[in-house]
Amino acid sequence: MSETTKRIIIVGGGTSGSVLAARLSENPSLSVTLLEIGADDDTYNDGILDPTRAPEAWLGLQPVAMTPMMNGEGVIPMIQGRLLGGTSAVNGLATLRGLPEDYDGWAAAGHEGWGWQDVIDTFIAAETDQDFGASDLHGDRGPLTVRRWRREEMGHAQLAFYDGMRALGANPVDDINDRSQLPGLGVFPVTIDAAAKRVSTSRAYLTSSVRARENLTLRTGAEVTSLMIEGGRAVGVQLSTGETLDADEVVITAGALWTPHLLMRSGIGPAAHLAEHGIKVHADLPVGETMSDHIGPGIRYLHAGPRGGTAGPAQSLLIGASNGVDIDYHAFPIAPPPREGDTEFVMAVFLLRSSGKGSVRLGDNPDYGPVVTAPPLPDDANERLAHAFKRIAAWEQSDAAKALGCTQIDPIDLTASDAPQRAREHYTISYGHMTSTCPMGAVLDSDCRVLGIEGLRVADASIMPTIPSGNTYLGCVMVAERVARKMLADAHV
Ligand SMILES: Cc1cc2nc3c(=O)[nH]c(=O)nc-3n(C[C@H](O)[C@H](O)[C@H](O)COP(=O)(O)OP(=O)(O)OC[C@H]3O[C@@H](n4cnc5c(N)ncnc54)[C@H](O)[C@@H]3O)c2cc1C
Repeated sequence: MSETTKRIIIVGGGTSGSVLAARLSENPSLSVTLLEIGADDDTYNDGILDPTRAPEAWLGLQPVAMTPMMNGEGVIPMIQGRLLGGTSAVNGLATLRGLPEDYDGWAAAGHEGWGWQDVIDTFIAAETDQDFGASDLHGDRGPLTVRRWRREEMGHAQLAFYDGMRALGANPVDDINDRSQLPGLGVFPVTIDAAAKRVSTSRAYLTSSVRARENLTLRTGAEVTSLMIEGGRAVGVQLSTGETLDADEVVITAGALWTPHLLMRSGIGPAAHLAEHGIKVHADLPVGETMSDHIGPGIRYLHAGPRGGTAGPAQSLLIGASNGVDIDYHAFPIAPPPREGDTEFVMAVFLLRSSGKGSVRLGDNPDYGPVVTAPPLPDDANERLAHAFKRIAAWEQSDAAKALGCTQIDPIDLTASDAPQRAREHYTISYGHMTSTCPMGAVLDSDCRVLGIEGLRVADASIMPTIPSGNTYLGCVMVAERVARKMLADAHV
């Protein structure tokens, strides 16, 4: 390497970190080291590659970090993948962008370069859409191979959901990433390969030719425990083994729970909270104070016989509008791991627009991971959920649902006035869409640089000023792609 080589360390080889490492190492003048606490993806087993088995991760059977989260009604688990590819290696594969107005809202709040017209080309550049090819909305050259599940791949519950909702008048759409078609009932685009196996960001971006680059070092089983900060500048990281690594720039991509945790352990966070833990403050910033997520009730059902199909979970989508353009909830069946006998599935409902603010804090022993409090649901949540429940109750009466022969487990009368509150108390789950724990504007500037600290950026779900109105995986890819572009433009080497 030349004397002008810039050394960059990326902490977290997950969804965003894999993208960032691949893009930055395109510049041979940069020396890129990617540090991932979990295992490499050559240790992926069928359980991870097979989309039908994704719920195994949600049950903790695949490599994940389970973090208990408090909400008003009790403790629910929050999950992040803990292996190369991160949560993109264990998630439901739904490949949604959110709505143009989400990003225009970011730009209107002063985050220059993040409006819809700024980010759309990044979404397009990330994908090879096998259904639509190159168009104003889709791409045919990106690393992520995308297509929609086909009808013959769907499981029995998924078909019953789709057909039942369709019979009730839901508007069928062929592209739920096309805002002009919404609201509607669609099939999730997913990132899968020709054999219908999962394509995580590590599989898509960290290909063998990328890994062979001399300027890219990939280390798995490497846990970063703190950042080294000297004179207001990040100068490297420390690993759990005590080893230290120097860097000219550090980028944290450890996800919306572990990124703020690492920053706080390193003295970047709310001063009063850090003082409680005797941590020296390098920057007094509201790290971890504005967490968003999509949380909501999942109504559990059972039907006789096997699940059928080869499609992954979360495969059909309903987006309902309560007032014109407001997209308000969606519901989809999730089939658990295949097993003998009956099949259980979940009708999941969550509010796309969640206004609440949760938090990520250090626990009594910071070594034990973050303490997370769920964002409260907005004041009008029960009203919006009641609207969703009426549709599900009607679906239960549809010919398709009756033909499936499903019954609720632990039944709840979805038309009762207290149904939303009861469902929230008994069935609330996190959909794993944690964001906004180190948002631009409060913790970062619009180039995702940590305010008040030189040589330090964040580039994952944490940076989002507000949660997008959709699943968050593709948004994280977009964030990493854009931060990479900014860093490559700034590299000057
Ligand atoms: C169960 C579940 C299902 C989901 N389904 C969908 C879906 O279908 N569609 C969708 O769009 N979104 C889905 N999501 C959300 C989406 O996958 C995430 O928002 C997104 O993948 C997060 O990306 P990230 O880069 O922010 O973090 P991650 O992908 O979680 O990456 C963080 C990485 O950092 C590593 N790490 C953490 N701490 C350290 C450390 N100290 N040192 C070194 N490495 C560290 C982790 O091991 C991990 O690999 C789901 C989430 C969950 C939990």
